[in-house]
Amino acid sequence: MKTIIEPFRIKSVEPIRMTTHKERRHHIEAVDYNLFALHSDHVLIDLLTDSGTSSMSSAQWAAVMLGDESYAGSPSFYRFEAAVRELMPFRYIIPTHQGRAAEKILFTVVGREGQVIPNNTHFDTTRANVEARGMTAADLGIEEGKHPEVEHPFKGNMDVEKLDAFIRETGPENIPLCMITVTNNSGGGQPVSMENIRRTKEVCRRHGLPLFIDACRFAENAYFIKMREPGYEEKTVPDIVREMFSHADGCTMSAKKDPLVNIGGWLALNNEEWVDQCRNFLILTEGFPTYGGLAGRDLDAIAAGLREAVDEEYLRYRYASMRYVADRLTAAGVPMVRPVGGHAIFLDARGFLPQIPPLHYPGQSLAVELYLYGGIRSCEIGTSMFGKQADGSEQPASMDLVRLAIPRRVYTQSHMDYVIEVILEVFERRASLKGMRYTWQPPALRHFTGKFAYVD
Ligand SMILES: *Cc1c(COP(=O)(O)O)cnc(C)c1O
Repeated sequence: MKTIIEPFRIKSVEPIRMTTHKERRHHIEAVDYNLFALHSDHVLIDLLTDSGTSSMSSAQWAAVMLGDESYAGSPSFYRFEAAVRELMPFRYIIPTHQGRAAEKILFTVVGREGQVIPNNTHFDTTRANVEARGMTAADLGIEEGKHPEVEHPFKGNMDVEKLDAFIRETGPENIPLCMITVTNNSGGGQPVSMENIRRTKEVCRRHGLPLFIDACRFAENAYFIKMREPGYEEKTVPDIVREMFSHADGCTMSAKKDPLVNIGGWLALNNEEWVDQCRNFLILTEGFPTYGGLAGRDLDAIAAGLREAVDEEYLRYRYASMRYVADRLTAAGVPMVRPVGGHAIFLDARGFLPQIPPLHYPGQSLAVELYLYGGIRSCEIGTSMFGKQADGSEQPASMDLVRLAIPRRVYTQSHMDYVIEVILEVFERRASLKGMRYTWQPPALRHFTGKFAYVD
């Protein structure tokens, strides 16, 4: 088989800046070992997130110029709405400036204090928005998804039996809606099968609960269904996408992920009673319902990006580049979440650094080392991010991972070769790495702004 190449050529380039080890030590100490606080100029390969970091295509830049900046009723909105509805056929589509704004609006409108939201795995902003409303976020993903080394084609799945039992125990009246996140970002970027979405919907229907999809990586999820789920090999990705959403009553969306743009999101739903309240709240915090905190040109860029997001040539290349890194690391014995997910390589920091206990954040230590040694910025997804409990106590997260998120259409294969070399070098010296602790932390979402030091 021939090499699966990048299905694009480069029209505009952006230089990246080399730094020395000594410079990087200075930069990371100056920000108390919080990688979010670095100047991105001081990063060589930025794998902090795949969110809002995509390269736009020439078609998207052309669409930007067609943006109509009318305050109300802009044609850009109608193009956006049509492009979303083509894939996600919901009755009401409300643009927002990001996914979290959609979450905030949804939970403010549907939630009441003391209620519970079940999900396969809540993303961090989703959990924070659920908790900010005085509700509890329950993660009910399948057991396989909690073990990095266990192979399973759909590790992002909801544990449907557990969900059913959970709804019975909690009482459906205490649950405004159920969510399912595709792909399961915090669970390793792992996909959810069509069968699992369908069965989750059946449980919800039996209990009279709406099902909302946290849809950020819907296209990557659909590509996994095409590759791995019997009966879907011959279906097109857009058809698979439409089938996924046919099982849902609404979705929250960050356009900064699969839709290949740098800002944007939406809330989509069918419920007529909720939509007016959602729009009123939108006007209070985001803007008029035909722009929702975005410029007309952003809406046009999303419309064009959505068409490219479901292109199978593109998805094949994207998955191949992920596999390329994962297979080489696995061959060298580096512990990571297997099989590889859709948007990122997740190193298993607990397996990588067994000498560091979870409460000393092995993931943070590893992420800092990848920066120090190679100028690579990654992100801890583990006890630093999730360990703090609502009562202020601290518990190990179910996994300690380091996420190397791959921005869409940004880096080439030689960049990935460099990333592999850096990880393998750090892996060789892994026994010398030390744990970390917080020297300061804010009350919520501490990983974004907290300060760290090494444990002695
Ligand atoms: C990024 C993300 C969000 C939040 O979207 P923002 O645009 O960053 O606010 C919600 N859920 C999942 C699964 C995500 O990956």
